[in-house]
Amino acid sequence: MDTQEAPAESLPGSKISDLIAAAQELRKPFVSLEFFPPRTVAGVVNLRERIQRLKRVAPFFIDFTWGAGGNTADLTLDLVLEAKLEHGLEPNMHLTCTNMPVLKIDNALQACREHGVRNIVALRGDPPAGENQWLASEGGFKCALDLVHYIRQQHGDFFCVSVAGYPEGHPDRIRQRKGGLDALSEAERARCSVSPGTGEVYVCSDKDFEVELAYLKAKCEAGADVIITQMFFDASVYGRFVAECRRVGITQPIVPGIMPINAYGGFQRMTSFCRTRVPPNLLARIEVNKDNEAAIKEIGLDYGEQMCRELLQLGAPGLHFYTLNLEKVTVGILRRMGLAGDYDEPPTEDTAQMLDMIKSG
Ligand SMILES: Cc1cc2nc3c(=O)[nH]c(=O)nc-3n(C[C@H](O)[C@H](O)[C@H](O)COP(=O)(O)OP(=O)(O)OC[C@H]3O[C@@H](n4cnc5c(N)ncnc54)[C@H](O)[C@@H]3O)c2cc1C
Repeated sequence: MDTQEAPAESLPGSKISDLIAAAQELRKPFVSLEFFPPRTVAGVVNLRERIQRLKRVAPFFIDFTWGAGGNTADLTLDLVLEAKLEHGLEPNMHLTCTNMPVLKIDNALQACREHGVRNIVALRGDPPAGENQWLASEGGFKCALDLVHYIRQQHGDFFCVSVAGYPEGHPDRIRQRKGGLDALSEAERARCSVSPGTGEVYVCSDKDFEVELAYLKAKCEAGADVIITQMFFDASVYGRFVAECRRVGITQPIVPGIMPINAYGGFQRMTSFCRTRVPPNLLARIEVNKDNEAAIKEIGLDYGEQMCRELLQLGAPGLHFYTLNLEKVTVGILRRMGLAGDYDEPPTEDTAQMLDMIKSG
């Protein structure tokens, strides 16, 4: 039972932890979708139309990210409230500590609470664009763990709190390893990445991985209900991560975050920025087709379907898609798997949204 009730005027929504538990009981995988607040007016219009169409997939919940540095906070809140009040969807609002004094955090949580939005993803956030080092704002929180503590302290059980998990280790702890693959343990070899151009090997060491697991456990013990993972392209990395989490006593559901492959440039940028492991067979297919936009999307569909099937076989409770505000590949994968609900037309082209992403940088 909740220790604190919602204000009288709100219509409290569901907690995604309860929805996930119900789906697990029925052994029915769920689908959830993530969007970011666009920076252009056209982007916002496109996103609204897209959400209207994607409702037919019947996502369990939809996430809205919190712009790096809190720069799109108002839009995130608007989109969250629209999703709940106009579309009847269950929003999961991301909230980061970057440039967020306590008062701003309080305001964001209060706005959610007043409108019955009960799902928050508590994150530290990345440094704002152009800055390399993450710095806490004055009197603000230093890490996601502080934010989880604070939410529980201020709001009891009102919110379902999700946190981020990193199956390959957080990028800050992924470092170059001299000596190549031979210098790695078996577990390190299974989660390392090899730089396509130089052959350099990057990995979160076993020692650092233990620190990461202990920290994730602390976030759970502080009150996190659900873990959503960073993207990955090797399903076995997810399987091993779940096993490691269970070994250290983490019991929360671990939802795999899936980044569909939509275009060569985006894939290349994201995987090199995060030092993501890319299985050699996938990399080879992508590189051969890098100038063929349609072929890359086709690989995104094939590979996405194969990986999602493997994840469900590994026991993933559902599939969380980082849509990047795009539609075609995500819906394509879901249709192939029979998980697209009532979305029964060919998915709309992503061109307009792609242009918006390019303009937003
Ligand atoms: C599912 C998901 C959603 C995301 N959504 C957003 C978003 O909406 N907006 C956005 O800007 N970014 C988002 N990000 C990116 C995220 O903000 C960055 O990855 C950021 O660098 C770390 O955030 P975190 O919440 O994981 O941080 P934390 O959990 O605080 O951890 C960050 C790193 O610091 C280490 N660390 C921190 N404190 C301690 C401690 N006390 N002891 C030991 N280690 C510690 C952790 O081990 C980890 O390596 C998201 C990431 C994921 C995986």
